[in-house]
Amino acid sequence: MKHDRGLLIVLSGPSGVGKGTVCAALRPHMKDLVYSVSATTRTPRTGEVDGVNYFFKTKEQFKHMIENDQLLEWAEYVGNFYGTPRGFVEDTLASGRDVILEIEVQGALQVKEKFPEGIFVFLAPPDLKELRSRITGRGTETEESIHNRMTMAKAEIELMDRYNYVVVNDEVDKACERIEAIVVAEHCKKERQ
Ligand code: 5GP
Repeated sequence: MKHDRGLLIVLSGPSGVGKGTVCAALRPHMKDLVYSVSATTRTPRTGEVDGVNYFFKTKEQFKHMIENDQLLEWAEYVGNFYGTPRGFVEDTLASGRDVILEIEVQGALQVKEKFPEGIFVFLAPPDLKELRSRITGRGTETEESIHNRMTMAKAEIELMDRYNYVVVNDEVDKACERIEAIVVAEHCKKERQ
């Protein structure tokens, strides 16, 4: 029997591991995949566009979204709030299209409670030294933010075994191929049910 709902794919892992880069590289390969845009209270980085990279919100606006149950999950991450708008994800899945969320680990575990049937993929760095150099190399973070993100990363890596899949991001193209393969396999599995 065929199911009409789309698959929910959650790509998670430590900050700096390359989730954004991998998601961007997936787009031309997986044109049917719908990308959820998160809400955040973080200040936009140079070049980031409201409604494209994030919906940039004030703390009051974000609180209002929480109180009105408009977020599927939310988390405070190194001093800023991040959350997934619920309506968009639910409507897109109901329309039969697959949705991908690119979120940190606390949020991913909240989604797992609500959508245990989701596909949870942990993107892992080859090692912690490489992760630090990727965060530093972005040139967007202060020394304090780098330190906080590395502390978070160590705790997040401990939670890796709660995921369905672990993909090591040693090379972006290879990581994309593996994620594509996971989605294809999960669709085949669903066809059978
Ligand atoms: P950044 O400030 O580097 O854009 O994001 C910091 C962290 O927040 C990253 O790990 C990113 O994946 C995560 N993030 C982005 N959007 C969301 C969201 O909607 N929910 C959660 N829980 N984390 C998010």
